[in-house]
Amino acid sequence: MAHSGGCFCGAVRLEVTGAPEAMGYCHCQSCRSWSAAPVNAFTLWKPSAVRISAGAEHVATFQKSELSQRQYCRKCGGHLMTNHPPIGLVDVFAATLPTLAFAPAVHVNYAETVLPMRDGLPKLRDFPAELGGSGETIRE
Ligand SMILES: [Zn+2]
Ligand SMILES: [Zn+2]
Repeated sequence: MAHSGGCFCGAVRLEVTGAPEAMGYCHCQSCRSWSAAPVNAFTLWKPSAVRISAGAEHVATFQKSELSQRQYCRKCGGHLMTNHPPIGLVDVFAATLPTLAFAPAVHVNYAETVLPMRDGLPKLRDFPAELGGSGETIRE
């Protein structure tokens, strides 16, 4: 199963194949600042499952920390995805994949939330233990 998406102006198109490794919400300050939104709805993919299908020449990358290479369209400023080299996964923002049925399973960095979401899903204080976090869950 493939899904395609793109940036705000449409100059950059991307395609993902298969199923995401994980889907959920990140509440961290970095995601909020970068996305200009109270949460980031993420879908994580192996890099081999993600392909820029058009407009690669318009893709720019901003890197502030080792964890995140943030990719966006240089024409419209629209955000595309964030590559996370240390964990070997790419976050293709759920909002850039309109045909993917977003099925969140977890909230991460919930200790930093500014938008509490009482949806019954697990709320991790930071990251899962297997990704170097505490793995601790906290109350909604
Ligand atoms: Zn664009
Ligand atoms: Zn985050």
